Amino acid sequence: MDQATPHPHFEPFRGSNQAPLDPESEADIIVIGAGPAGLATAACLVQAGHSPLVLDRANDVASSWRHHYTRLHLHTVKTHSALPGMDFPDDAPRYVPRQGVVDYLVAYARRHGIEPEFGQTVTAIEPRQGPGAPWQVALGNGRLMSANHVVVATGANQRPRMPTLPGEDVYQGRLLHSRSYRNAAPFAGRRVLVVGMGNTGAEIALDLVENGVRAALSVRSPVNIVHREVMGRPSQLSSIQLSKLPTPLGDALATLLRNLTVGDLRRHGLRTPAISPLRQLREQGKTPVIDVGTLHRIVSGDIHVYPGVQTLTSGGVRFTDGTVHPFDAVLLATGYDAALSELFPYTPLPLDGTGLPTTLSGEGPLEGLHFVGFDMRQPGGLLRTIAQQAPRVAERIGQRQSRAARGQRSV
Ligand SMILES: Cc1cc2nc3c(=O)[nH]c(=O)nc-3n(C[C@H](O)[C@H](O)[C@H](O)COP(=O)(O)OP(=O)(O)OC[C@H]3O[C@@H](n4cnc5c(N)ncnc54)[C@H](O)[C@@H]3O)c2cc1C
Repeated sequence: MDQATPHPHFEPFRGSNQAPLDPESEADIIVIGAGPAGLATAACLVQAGHSPLVLDRANDVASSWRHHYTRLHLHTVKTHSALPGMDFPDDAPRYVPRQGVVDYLVAYARRHGIEPEFGQTVTAIEPRQGPGAPWQVALGNGRLMSANHVVVATGANQRPRMPTLPGEDVYQGRLLHSRSYRNAAPFAGRRVLVVGMGNTGAEIALDLVENGVRAALSVRSPVNIVHREVMGRPSQLSSIQLSKLPTPLGDALATLLRNLTVGDLRRHGLRTPAISPLRQLREQGKTPVIDVGTLHRIVSGDIHVYPGVQTLTSGGVRFTDGTVHPFDAVLLATGYDAALSELFPYTPLPLDGTGLPTTLSGEGPLEGLHFVGFDMRQPGGLLRTIAQQAPRVAERIGQRQSRAARGQRSV
């Protein structure tokens, strides 16, 4: 079947080994995902008098945060990371630790009376042909549901991006994605190469060396780096303020601030892009590295920066500069995909080049579909963006329902 052709029902999605479908049930609003985006949207809907059904494939809220590496703290300040209707506790530190985020999300769901159905993996979402609620949602357990509104809050970081490295078949060491990393303990006494210097790669390399593991980074492209704070002022707040200035001025000041505080790192193996951190975020959706100490370890020589990986060898890595170095483990901090097309096998979505939706609420044939938590181009962090998107989606759903009710009365 052609991607653009709506299919008559869900049979094509179902593998032959799946249980028979339950009779279809209907919900007015289905929210998929009980992470920050799903919980925030559900809370705003509840506040507006709706009763959304929240589904999550995990067994508890905040599953992503439960599985992140142990040392993780928010890079964004707690006052600009809270979801609508509930602040972080007064005694929480400015940068909330991972477990504090989990506790906050658990308390948030409780506060708003959100009781997700867990263990419910959505496998496909498609428009319905004919009468009834316009969206059908298929679950992995064979359940089939329909809804007037579907809020997709499955997260931008769903599927680990695993580039295939030449030489993987001969490499004798351990090759893993950063998603599997929890702490440095399993790497004690090993030489570890972290491939990629986004926020995750930078922080895992730091975690390794702080715990006595010999770690290096492989960085093939120029990287925008900003300190988490400059003279006590969080960079998150500076970026929000700079983004409100006329664009060329904001970009120029962001570049100046970066150059003055981080400087030229070429002799440490790091190139700085010509594009300002603010513009790179706005145009490419790429968050700068918010430095929490990695830079100091690079400058002091504790973390060596190598160029890109050319090939793995049996005992290590050959880099693009021709040098070969031994490594016992190669950890790919190469990011994630949202993998949304898999949820919509027959419905073309408005996605950007990185596979993220370019719309918050669908129009025309996509009316009733909403995507919360995928706009990575806003300054100030994704949690802040989620906190802004959730009430807008709740409002939009309310407006559409009022229109539908008026339409029914006038018939
Ligand atoms: C390491 C890391 C650090 C971050 N730090 C910050 C920070 O400091 N500040 C900030 O603002 N942002 C930060 N972010 C970005 C962002 O705020 C978080 O990723 C946040 O968890 C996004 O919330 P979400 O609800 O969109 O996605 P998630 O938290 O990933 O939640 C998605 C939920 O959907 C469920 N789900 C997925 N697919 C399905 C399916 N098919 N069926 C049913 N359920 C499904 C998952 O089980 C999950 O519970 C960070 C991200 C990462 C990865």
